[in-house]
Amino acid sequence: MIKPDGVRRGLTPEILARIHKKGYRVVGLKQMNITRETAEQHYGEHRERPFFGELVDFITGGPVVAIALEGNEAIAGWRAMMGATNPANAAPGTIRADFATTTGENVTHGSDSPESAQRELALFFKDGELL
Ligand code: ATP
Ligand code: MG
Repeated sequence: MIKPDGVRRGLTPEILARIHKKGYRVVGLKQMNITRETAEQHYGEHRERPFFGELVDFITGGPVVAIALEGNEAIAGWRAMMGATNPANAAPGTIRADFATTTGENVTHGSDSPESAQRELALFFKDGELL
């Protein structure tokens, strides 16, 4: 997902270009607003964390771009392309190192397991929307 800061700052084409150049197949793509309910489900694992309210405010604060991508080891590979959660710790050349300065607004999201990918894809795409 391209988070609202990334969309607002016009980074969508650059990030999609990186995904295509890497060789992943985009099987779903849409710009959308996220409801509070969806955001709370999406980040449910962080419900008890002190930053949860801010995180939900942020992710619902503007359109996001939801991307379903497919490819060899795509979950780990996309997380590697994003870099560390805190951009200060992200390796040079990663999306977060190149385009972000704060943990709170770090441009992209990536599912962290096959289970979370399945759960999140179902939150953002309806049956039949994925290629
Ligand atoms: P994401 O789930 O967004 O792909 P991630 O898996 O790298 O990121 P998580 O630990 O799942 O990181 O945290 C989810 C998101 O919550 C982070 O991307 C970040 O925007 C926000 N977040 C995490 N830790 C903090 C923190 N200490 N302060 C503020 N925001 C945080
Ligand atoms: Mg996460």
